[in-house]
Amino acid sequence: MFVIGLTGGIGSGKSAVTALLGELGATVIDADKVGHQAYQPHTETWQAVVDAFGTDILQPNEEVDRRKLGAVVFSDPKELARLNSIMHPRMYTMLEVELNEMRESGVEVAVVEAAILIEAKWTPLVDEVWVTVADPEKVVERVKQRSNIPEEQILSRIKAQMPQEERIRHATVVVENNAGLDELRTKLQTLWDTRVKGKG
Ligand code: ATP
Repeated sequence: MFVIGLTGGIGSGKSAVTALLGELGATVIDADKVGHQAYQPHTETWQAVVDAFGTDILQPNEEVDRRKLGAVVFSDPKELARLNSIMHPRMYTMLEVELNEMRESGVEVAVVEAAILIEAKWTPLVDEVWVTVADPEKVVERVKQRSNIPEEQILSRIKAQMPQEERIRHATVVVENNAGLDELRTKLQTLWDTRVKGKG
């Protein structure tokens, strides 16, 4: 099985590229969803998070309240590092299990879409790292259209993330996404035909 790790900054087109790869025949894992699963009540990861942050960060149904947890960790880098040290290795294992199941069931091409693929040190799970990049003006325009977040907030999120140049340093493939969706589709078709097809 050939495994692509897809990452990129906020609004750079990760989901768009993942959807196109799905259309071309890849089986997709969304790391966000794996994170949500890990927060389900009474899983081992849930317990570790509760042990570290207390029951105040839970919803009445005992699921982790991501907003409350976010408020704790995003105001204090030490707390964020603590949460990451709980989540990242456990999510690595969960992703590994899921990939192994896919491998055993005969999947030929898998995509792991993960905004923090590099930061969380998940790259050993993938054969190639693909990075989506778009100019900040494009990102602002697209994210605004998607969710009405104010421009300053989008720009500060871009700044808070790993710098684009650093992400590119880890990339096997850089998918530039400044043009329209038709161009992106054509680009992905070419990448599929030249780099992916037949590798599974
Ligand atoms: P995030 O990390 O914020 O979830 P992302 O990297 O997954 O973002 P997308 O959700 O794929 O990015 O793209 C951001 C927005 O821009 C979406 O609404 C998407 O439909 C739109 N978009 C992506 N690529 C293009 C494009 N080439 N042309 C026009 N719109 C695009």
